[in-house]
Amino acid sequence: MTAGSAESSSVRGFTGGAFAENGYVVRDAEAGCALVVDPGACAVEQVAWLRETGDRLDAIVLTHAHLDHVEGVPAVRRAFPDVPILLHPADLALYRAVPQQGAAFGVDVEELPEPTDVLEAGATLRCGALAFRVREAPGHAPGHVVLVEEDRGYALTGDVIFLGSIGRTDLPGGDFHTLMASIREQILTLPDDMRLLPGHGPETTVGHERRHNPFLVPQYRGRFV
Ligand SMILES: [Zn+2]
Ligand SMILES: [Zn+2]
Repeated sequence: MTAGSAESSSVRGFTGGAFAENGYVVRDAEAGCALVVDPGACAVEQVAWLRETGDRLDAIVLTHAHLDHVEGVPAVRRAFPDVPILLHPADLALYRAVPQQGAAFGVDVEELPEPTDVLEAGATLRCGALAFRVREAPGHAPGHVVLVEEDRGYALTGDVIFLGSIGRTDLPGGDFHTLMASIREQILTLPDDMRLLPGHGPETTVGHERRHNPFLVPQYRGRFV
């Protein structure tokens, strides 16, 4: 297998639901293992893809606990009954309030199984040869994390930063200045050519956002907005 094909096959995005949320499956095809990231309305397609590849699912990893990123956790758990669920503890309260989040948006949500493991800054999630470094990036949600695969040059960034935009900060637990600090310290410190695979919309790169994101240009010039 060439490096190129290994990279292209190691992450696949899925989009679904009223929120057009992006979930991902990352996998090491040679090792036959995978992680599901942010199973929202696309969880059924993520499970179908896992069935197709025959990979062993090692964990469900949640960048944060907003409804649109976790509503598919029960569907994945039904397909893989004992698979660990990883969440940053600062988002536990949001996770447990998902029924209320659903009520606020007029969405029925199944009861969610409790997270089994803790995501913390500096930890490394491994799946075969893949290694995701966990960075804490609060602001959109208090326990938001991003997952950085340095060797393969991509990061799963949830709702921290989007192509030309940033995560909203008006939901419970959100804070604009905290988010801007997270972007400056946890995103803009990554290499310019790193791909950012977000929770909504198309992928982008660190360099593209550094140069063109209207929310970040003042940051890059060193001012704290
Ligand atoms: Zn969110
Ligand atoms: Zn979202």
